Amino acid sequence: MIDVVIVGGGLAGAASAYFLAKEGVEVLLLEREDLNTKASGSNAGSIHAQIPHAPFVENGEAWARGFAPTIPIMMEGIALWRAMEAELGVALDVSTPGGLLVARTDDEMRAVVRKAEIERAHGLPVEILGRDDLRRLAPYVSDAMIGGAFCPIEGKANPLLATPAFAQAAERLGARIQRFVAVAGIKRERVGFTLATTAGLVRARRIVNAAGAEATVVASMAGVALALEAHPIQVTVTEPVAPLVRHLLYSAGDRLSLKQAPVGSLLIGGGWPARCDARGRLSVSPRSLAANLAVAEKVVPGVAQARVVRTWPALVNGTADWRPILGEPPGVPGFYMAIFPWMGFTAGPIAARLVTDMILGRESGIDVSAFAPGAEAA
Ligand SMILES: Cc1cc2nc3c(=O)[nH]c(=O)nc-3n(C[C@H](O)[C@H](O)[C@H](O)COP(=O)(O)OP(=O)(O)OC[C@H]3O[C@@H](n4cnc5c(N)ncnc54)[C@H](O)[C@@H]3O)c2cc1C
Repeated sequence: MIDVVIVGGGLAGAASAYFLAKEGVEVLLLEREDLNTKASGSNAGSIHAQIPHAPFVENGEAWARGFAPTIPIMMEGIALWRAMEAELGVALDVSTPGGLLVARTDDEMRAVVRKAEIERAHGLPVEILGRDDLRRLAPYVSDAMIGGAFCPIEGKANPLLATPAFAQAAERLGARIQRFVAVAGIKRERVGFTLATTAGLVRARRIVNAAGAEATVVASMAGVALALEAHPIQVTVTEPVAPLVRHLLYSAGDRLSLKQAPVGSLLIGGGWPARCDARGRLSVSPRSLAANLAVAEKVVPGVAQARVVRTWPALVNGTADWRPILGEPPGVPGFYMAIFPWMGFTAGPIAARLVTDMILGRESGIDVSAFAPGAEAA
């Protein structure tokens, strides 16, 4: 019987394999396709800590207060990102020049200030900027922007590098990783579980569900009902341009994440919907592309000089309230959820470490009980 079987070879699964193997736990990771082929390798690479602005505007302050306990997780997660390059011995292109949420109208600015108050109450460093402060900090931002909020710990990393780096480090520590093996069924036994896979039956003492947008399906195999969503969204990359965008940029007016990769390309996203046909095939929405570029140009006029190279769609794992699901559901001990929706690139490594702590029965220093499965509505 294997001690821990991890289902899913995205960032959450690969990082879980690493942290568990580092503690000497016997680990087998099963991935239906190749590693890093879903959201973890297709995302925009933003490292977030702020409460996302669009759901704040949509759902209001009560929602933000319920979501705010993720802030310590995100802050610890960013500290972990900063440490991981040295720990794994691989460049992950981690940089944290800060995130800047900019506003164009007084109404937008009021919402920025209200959100910052909630964030600060949960320990996040956020500075409110007036028009002059914004000019000084980010002269490349449009003069039409009247101010914003600056969170100095936000930034970016490279999604193409992170999951493979964790997976290779995990394998060096003894973890086994099987690619192109799908988990098709899970039976609860008197002790542990039996997984039916495309490579045969596997006995496991414990399971980590790191199946991302398909975590609902994997949970239901073990009789656990999870309210997870999968949304097709898209990201755009431009050809390299001279240094232009120093920070991770957001707009209080519409969905935007904008930053510049080390090679000079601009990455433009923010959760704009892609298309998904009846057979589940994804394609780019030209309408979303045009709208996303328009918002980017409104915030940083210099973006207009860059030519688009590619836009790609992928499924993001979501929950309706944006809250993560971490730990064991009531009544199914040994079945651990490692699910961080919408911002699971930022939170993948820390979610993996928190689940590792739970499996080892170790104090993590962060209270995540509010995000236990079954505590969704708490
Ligand atoms: C376009 C886009 C942009 C994004 N931008 C950002 C961003 O800038 N910053 C940020 O923090 N987050 C971002 N995200 C969100 C982030 O990418 C995800 O939340 C995160 O990658 C989820 O990681 P995961 O390991 O849980 O899931 P995934 O990366 O989806 O991995 C799950 C894996 O499980 C495998 N699997 C599923 N079912 C089975 C099965 N039955 N058997 C075996 N294997 C199975 C899948 O094949 C997959 O490889 C973005 C997402 C998208 C799609």
